[in-house]
Amino acid sequence: MSPNTLRTNQQKTKPPRADDGLRERFQQLRHLALDLDGTLYLGGTLFKFTPRFLESLTQMGIGYTFFTNNSSRSAKQYVSHLSEMGIKADIDMIYSSTHATIEYLHQTYPDARRVFALGTPGFEQELAEAGFTISATRPDLVVIGFDTNLTYSRLSRAAYWIKEGKPFIATHPDLVCPTDRPLVLPDCGAICQLLTASTGRKPDAVLGKPNVTMLNGVLERNGLTREQVAMVGDRLYTDIAMANNAGVLSVLVLTGETKAADLNGADYSPDLVIEHVGKFGAMLREAREVVGS
Ligand SMILES: [Mg+2]
Repeated sequence: MSPNTLRTNQQKTKPPRADDGLRERFQQLRHLALDLDGTLYLGGTLFKFTPRFLESLTQMGIGYTFFTNNSSRSAKQYVSHLSEMGIKADIDMIYSSTHATIEYLHQTYPDARRVFALGTPGFEQELAEAGFTISATRPDLVVIGFDTNLTYSRLSRAAYWIKEGKPFIATHPDLVCPTDRPLVLPDCGAICQLLTASTGRKPDAVLGKPNVTMLNGVLERNGLTREQVAMVGDRLYTDIAMANNAGVLSVLVLTGETKAADLNGADYSPDLVIEHVGKFGAMLREAREVVGS
């Protein structure tokens, strides 16, 4: 499948037009899974085209879920974070790797009650709300999130329980979290690699994109089929890989990690590569207006 790539210097005034195959798929869309960082904003800076894009989805009757691997914030904290940037969201519009992990734990370890977690207070709170007790002394399993409050004593404790053979579950595989500050932010995947190096064990399960469990949660929550959903994101090996694995339409935006040159010889095939979500919104409107007329 060859990507329908748009160049940055074309289509300044006319809306970009999708080819016939894509137009047909756009017409079936009822819902978008929208990655956050690198797609709708970068770090704390909202992209200027994002508010108009979200408004136009609502006008077209297309729902959306804010869909992120970043497990450092709870759904409630995401609602506040988005609101600070001027985006209104209800709590059930947030789906993070924490939610996918909780669903996985309920299904795979139905008798587990006590969890030792490496994560933020918001992460622990969501585990507690899902019925788990946070326990450093007698855990049934160990869950690693994006712990931005990581301390050596808790890391050592997690390694101990992993070494003792407790199930070792990671919320997502990302090695670093994007930022617009002069920092590198080691993420859940990097914390797990440290634990693997010190215990000799790899995680038993890694949720989050590209694991299709993430998307299944959104499909179930909203009563959708795969044809009715598209994944929009900025990373090939998480956003696009998950969409490819799940067989849903994939849209790669070039506002985050992936640059156009990275697509040469890439392992993943976005159905559409487009400069930013604003242009994607214009393309969707153009494809769907024709149907309605
Ligand atoms: Mg992203």
